[in-house]
Amino acid sequence: MRKVIVVGGGAAGMMAAVFAARQGGKVHLLEKNEKLGKKLFITGKGRCNLTNAADIEELFNAVVSNPKFLYSSFYSFTNDQTIDFFEELGVKTKVERGGRVFPQSDHSSDVISALSRELSRLGVEVSLNTEVKELIVEGGRVTGVLLASGKKLVSDAVIVASGGISYPSTGSTGDGYRFAKECGHKVTELLPSLVPMEVKEWYAKELMGLSLRNIEIRITDGKKKLYEEFGEMLFTHYGVTGPVILSASSVVGKGLKKKELTLHIDLKPALTEEQLDKRVLREFEANQNRQFKNSVDSLFPAKLKPVMVELSGIPEEKKVNEITREERIRFVHLIKDLTMTLTGLRGYNEAIITKGGVSVREIDPGSMESKNVEGLYFAGEVLDLDAVTGGYNLQIAWSTGYLAGINAAQE
Ligand SMILES: Cc1cc2nc3c(=O)[nH]c(=O)nc-3n(C[C@H](O)[C@H](O)[C@H](O)COP(=O)(O)OP(=O)(O)OC[C@H]3O[C@@H](n4cnc5c(N)ncnc54)[C@H](O)[C@@H]3O)c2cc1C
Repeated sequence: MRKVIVVGGGAAGMMAAVFAARQGGKVHLLEKNEKLGKKLFITGKGRCNLTNAADIEELFNAVVSNPKFLYSSFYSFTNDQTIDFFEELGVKTKVERGGRVFPQSDHSSDVISALSRELSRLGVEVSLNTEVKELIVEGGRVTGVLLASGKKLVSDAVIVASGGISYPSTGSTGDGYRFAKECGHKVTELLPSLVPMEVKEWYAKELMGLSLRNIEIRITDGKKKLYEEFGEMLFTHYGVTGPVILSASSVVGKGLKKKELTLHIDLKPALTEEQLDKRVLREFEANQNRQFKNSVDSLFPAKLKPVMVELSGIPEEKKVNEITREERIRFVHLIKDLTMTLTGLRGYNEAIITKGGVSVREIDPGSMESKNVEGLYFAGEVLDLDAVTGGYNLQIAWSTGYLAGINAAQE
């Protein structure tokens, strides 16, 4: 019976431990926190968006870094299998907007309890408050781990599933990157991702708390378009966040680290500029004798109105019937293209995932085993893999955890 040590009791680690044990391994799961799945608990705002019900091919499109590497793992343990796996463990699931799969109870704790029950049913030894300090490698193969307490544990295989460095309060403090480097692995550049962005202009602050639905954003570097998406966003005291902004961050993050980029917001994407002009004209005709600032109520949410009036360059007290055609056209253009300067990403404390990680070039995609060190496996966010929001990042953790578990326990 192969002895397998799993480092990290998050999504990938618990999954790896379950499947290593189902494969017949003698499994010891080590977690430095006082409980398992601390990050899993806060996923999906406490509801845990555990996978996405999309067609398997679409899963690859949702992966931003190294989708090809995931071919074996996604096909070995698919999103459908994730749903079946949790249903079998007693977690009934439901599918919401955009294919997002949640536990029917809306409680992430049900996902964690189901995994914990399965670990104990399989006889996996779980040690909490147990921090791994180093991997022990002898003659090109891993032989165990050294704990922070000074104790050494011996094993035939070690699976590193210690996560990234985002939300470090959940225990993901980047230890796996250090372990990998110490074993001669390359760790690619790390960046916070699925993270809010900071904005230079004064009006972002004025708009704090405002949520915009059905808008389209575009992010450009000079004339070059880097990202475009339809959806929902939110203003904060430092800048912008919300689904489209978080997704954008995983695409433009690297560029934004080097220089400022421009965020364009189309507030009325369903209308062409001409259609919108007609709509504005109707509004102006109905309010001919009013002041400009009192004529646009139906066009914007209350919080946005004073900002749009100010940015339009039209004196706010100007009578509507005195507004020139040029002024109106400029105003229409502003509604279709409200621009802001993005100055940077927020930090790891606010990032849903870490972009970058253990280079997948040195990992066997069919087993998750290191190509440098025999018996050493990696799974989950510690790897250079990341996807957009929608349950895909957890699917990466389940699929890579599954493959690592099965293979680490194989004689
Ligand atoms: C707020 C938030 C919401 C999210 N929501 C979703 C969502 O709804 N859907 C989705 O798909 N993804 C979501 N994610 C992303 C998802 O949580 C991660 O991609 C996933 O948890 C990664 O799993 P992992 O097992 O690789 O790492 P983690 O879950 O981070 O687990 C790593 C574990 O290893 C332990 N560990 C680290 N170092 C050591 C050490 N030296 N010794 C022992 N133990 C150690 C840590 O304590 C931790 O428990 C969200 C992330 C955040 C921050």
